[in-house]
Amino acid sequence: MLYVDNAATTKMSAAAINVMTTVINENWGNPSSLYTHGQSAKEVLEQARVDIAAVIDAQPREIYFTSGGSEADNQAIRSAAALGRKKGKMHIISSAFEHHAVLHTLDKLKSEGFEITLLDVHENGLIRPEEVEAAIREDTCLVTIMYANNEIGTIQPIRAIGEICRRKNVLFHVDAVQAVGHIPVSVALDNIDLLSASAHKFHGPKGVGFLYAKKGIALSNLIEGGAQERGKRAGTENVPGIAAMATALKEANEKLETNAEHMRKMRDLLIEGLRQIPHSALNGDEVNRLPGNVNFCFEGIEGESLLLLLDDKGICASSGSACTSGSLDPSHVLLAIGRVHDVAHGSLRLSIGEDITEADVEYLIRSVTEVVTYLRSFSPIWRDLMAGKKQFIL
Ligand SMILES: *Cc1c(COP(=O)(O)O)cnc(C)c1O
Repeated sequence: MLYVDNAATTKMSAAAINVMTTVINENWGNPSSLYTHGQSAKEVLEQARVDIAAVIDAQPREIYFTSGGSEADNQAIRSAAALGRKKGKMHIISSAFEHHAVLHTLDKLKSEGFEITLLDVHENGLIRPEEVEAAIREDTCLVTIMYANNEIGTIQPIRAIGEICRRKNVLFHVDAVQAVGHIPVSVALDNIDLLSASAHKFHGPKGVGFLYAKKGIALSNLIEGGAQERGKRAGTENVPGIAAMATALKEANEKLETNAEHMRKMRDLLIEGLRQIPHSALNGDEVNRLPGNVNFCFEGIEGESLLLLLDDKGICASSGSACTSGSLDPSHVLLAIGRVHDVAHGSLRLSIGEDITEADVEYLIRSVTEVVTYLRSFSPIWRDLMAGKKQFIL
């Protein structure tokens, strides 16, 4: 099996599994209990907080553990909105191609009286800092922009946007779920106020993540109950998951440069190879993109059929097209960068891992080329395109 869907989730690292089982066996007490057994769990928890904070240049007390990226996004945005409402500032700026955890939270806030501006994403999948600046108003309480896009892998000019937000005194939240553990992220250098991350995107376990909130920002609770996480996130902490997350993140961070260099090389080979397929196009910027992300559109085919046939060849990939996401519309990300419906339906995302080899890349290029050619051989849209009844877009 060739797993190239690391943007959906990653396999846990051996070290993370090892720490998780050790903590399950040896530190299973409740960290809120005062006896030694509880306190050893508390120590594991606090060490994880220290380790995670160090990776993103934060203070340990600025890290709040959550159930994952979605919860962190919800809590960050809701908190900034609540602070804004108190001051009569009810305008939020975001982009059209954020993760649904962000977009759906913004939809809810809209129904609660907030005004939302979604910035355009240009063809290369990038947001322009000057457009963020132009959109900021007197009543803007939050700018929320993702660090790197989960479908097309484009890396936003976060530092420049953060600098604008600081200068304009507007809170800046960054969904960094695809970035943390993959590219350098520093909340200090990047001028970030709130940041979301998720363990299962960097070889940690599923169901655990964290929210960074800069000192002085009062978070609102999504979950009421006990006083865990300094009263901001009730519920007995997922100590084994949190410990494994810290281990996975430290590991990813230590190998970050070496891994990224190898992956960029493999990614570029893959892009070069897939470009040879006629009427295809890379989605997103070629340079400002995650080391592991390759995303293409192939005209005249359906993404789902592509995925099924690749599965027969032992390849696990993803598509931003309709049925995979259970809706009739193609990916909102591909539409946001200006792909028309027909083209967006024929998309393929290959998110490679650190362990990919050159032989894997060759196999991917060969398999995708074969499958695309085969699907086109009986596609009615392709026939119309070839007959000149329809114009090629790509
Ligand atoms: C995966 C992902 C999330 C959601 O994280 P979960 O831990 O699965 O809830 C949010 N944002 C982005 C960009 C993601 O890729």
